[in-house]
Amino acid sequence: MVSSLHRPTKAIVNLEAISRNIQTVVRHIPNQAKVWAVVKANAYGHGAVAVAQHVERAVDGFCVSNVDEAIELRRAGILKSILVLGVVLPDEVYLAQEYGLTLTVSSLKWVTLAKRLGTQLKGLTCHIKIDSGMGRIGVRDQLEAEAVMSELKEQGAFVEGIFTHFATADEADDQFFKEQLSFFQDLVSRLQDCPPIIHASNSATSIWHAETIFNAVRLGLVLYGLNPSGGALDLPYALEPALRLESALVQVKKVPAGTAVGYGETYHTPKSEWIGTLPIGYADGWTRDMQDFKVLVEGEFCQIIGRVSMDQVTIRLPKKYPLGTRVILLGDSGEQSISATDVANKRGTINYEVLCLLSDRVPREY
Ligand SMILES: *Cc1c(COP(=O)(O)O)cnc(C)c1O
Repeated sequence: MVSSLHRPTKAIVNLEAISRNIQTVVRHIPNQAKVWAVVKANAYGHGAVAVAQHVERAVDGFCVSNVDEAIELRRAGILKSILVLGVVLPDEVYLAQEYGLTLTVSSLKWVTLAKRLGTQLKGLTCHIKIDSGMGRIGVRDQLEAEAVMSELKEQGAFVEGIFTHFATADEADDQFFKEQLSFFQDLVSRLQDCPPIIHASNSATSIWHAETIFNAVRLGLVLYGLNPSGGALDLPYALEPALRLESALVQVKKVPAGTAVGYGETYHTPKSEWIGTLPIGYADGWTRDMQDFKVLVEGEFCQIIGRVSMDQVTIRLPKKYPLGTRVILLGDSGEQSISATDVANKRGTINYEVLCLLSDRVPREY
């Protein structure tokens, strides 16, 4: 999809805020820990290339979810290590070799399949994924982990790391977290020949369980300045949200009482009202459940009224505003602000999803 540049809707990304968030988190974790910036899904909507280029010197490497995301970074000149967190099927392994990517190996079946297909694993750098309780990808027991490692080594691959992922690090109840942690600790401690890099910490683990960091962290959401728990746990220190979403009034009109607004005529003005229209809609990731939510116009909250269309949103204005007046959908204005977490709460989802859903149609400005 092309970005729509000739429209006042844009996401403004503060790269310096991302750098400061990294510094803040790094100050609170053990010194020797390697820091990887998780820039999957276009850096959670912030623009993977711009973010990676900006922070490359401040981190030890990057994590992405698939080979294409990694190739995008390599083509943009990113030289540091890139770990692909998802499973790459053996027939795509040649790309990892070509672009110097680190792959996640998550089962003995994968290694067997690679062998059967004659996949060249020689020289490949990989990390073994342990499923300590997430139930998604990864090896679930000691013997399989040992077998994967020895098979990989036999094929000439370099097993650089071993890692796991927590399902509940962002929750107040740490029972399950502790179970996963001891499973992983136990497995790692019994390995014949442990890989040099051991990692388990996403954002939530890095900030709320800093004492459990092995020797690397995978920082995602905290880079972008948001609370991984939504509001369930307080951030131990302040972070700066890095993305601001803006649009502008492209139509302002006064309508009489009883006027229908939007598809399905779900809203009728109870009295004469000023209605403003913004060029953003669900095709931009401003989903239909934003109806009745709010935006900010010159420091004042204004309600979204009527259905959210594919390309437009209508809001109730307290008074007449000139065309082109800026409207804030995410970010602050005057004394007020709207966060991705506020939006997530309205939608019944998480702030991660709010950011990731911002589509390519919205230009990112830095
Ligand atoms: C996405 C992801 C992360 C980063 O998660 P955040 O909560 O954004 O820090 C870390 N590890 C794995 C395996 C992931 O998939």
